[in-house]
Amino acid sequence: MTRNRKKKLAIRAEADGSSHARAARMHTPPPTEILAQDVQTALIGAFRGAGWPVESENFPEGGTWSGWLGPVSSSLSRPGAYDLMADPDDPYHHDLTVVPEVCFISPRIPINSGEKMVVRLPGTTAGPDLVAKVSKELGRARGSETAKLVNDSACALCGDRYPAAHLLPATDSDRLLLCPWCVFDGDILDVHPLRLAFAIDELTSEDMAAPAGWSAVAALLACAGGGALGDRMNEASSFSVALPHWNDPGRLWVWLPASGLPPALEHLRPGTSLSTLVAAVEQAYPDLRDRFRTELAAALDEDEEDEDAGAGREDYLVEELWPAAIVYAVTAAAQALERPAGTSPWHLLSDGFEEGNLADCFEEIGSTLDGHSLGTTFTLSIGVPVIARALGWDPDS
Ligand SMILES: [Zn+2]
Repeated sequence: MTRNRKKKLAIRAEADGSSHARAARMHTPPPTEILAQDVQTALIGAFRGAGWPVESENFPEGGTWSGWLGPVSSSLSRPGAYDLMADPDDPYHHDLTVVPEVCFISPRIPINSGEKMVVRLPGTTAGPDLVAKVSKELGRARGSETAKLVNDSACALCGDRYPAAHLLPATDSDRLLLCPWCVFDGDILDVHPLRLAFAIDELTSEDMAAPAGWSAVAALLACAGGGALGDRMNEASSFSVALPHWNDPGRLWVWLPASGLPPALEHLRPGTSLSTLVAAVEQAYPDLRDRFRTELAAALDEDEEDEDAGAGREDYLVEELWPAAIVYAVTAAAQALERPAGTSPWHLLSDGFEEGNLADCFEEIGSTLDGHSLGTTFTLSIGVPVIARALGWDPDS
């Protein structure tokens, strides 16, 4: 090929390239407007669909759409506005082609503790990707914060060591501070479950390394409260507002370890909701109630020489408390995984569900359940280890 021929070909190729680029520019669609409200709706739907407990306002406040996703809070706004307080979808104050940004933080109320997880993502991120990224970061941050804990105090009853802030009052006393597994012990008198419920909210909202077991205590109180404990808490307090899960236990979030879960729970995320957790356990083991009844019947037969012991026996399973039994089984195992140096949480099975304590608590929270009944005690003390063993954990270890 002659030099001129090569040059001509090169010039033609360049001309073709630029004409293609010009054509492409001519066909590039104008920038798309993205409404923050649509992003918020998709975001909330994605987390709800993934089984997180979710709350969201129906309007942006101060230029920001807020969300509460279990232990995480989200804020969605549009960068680059002159008036940051304006509705992010107001075209007079915002360029609606600027992609909104969503910021996820945990703990959900970081005023005292500082933000331990911050994830910023463009509002164009697909819903499943948002959930996956936040889940992964939340698990990582929880693991990192848990590893830093200094156990500088001891449960007043069992003596297991915890950070002082992780032990809570179950009575009026500020000095009788307990771990999650001791609050329903028979040695605890003059219980004050409404105070404890507010203390659990405060701890779990502000500290993402809080012991998993507090979810179990909250589950038991909320389930026993029959959908009205939040109302009772609000009547009792003039300066604190109960979170929605006290009236709707399914919305409690449960800390799960990032690894080490049995196959039935592997797909769940660190801040999963109680209702999602319970559904996962029951779907994987639909015969759990039968296992409970079989084990209880065997225990009663062992205890009673009476030949009528097995005849006409009542069903002791208290359905209202069954979700709490599931949360106890899972969080005791979770806490053993997350705090391997601590005392085994399974010590709760020896004295952790005492009838007198439970009866006093139930009365204080206005429960219609009878804490003195054998059903309450059996559902918890027999049900929890039955559920744990089904999931592959050994409460006797
Ligand atoms: Zn204790």
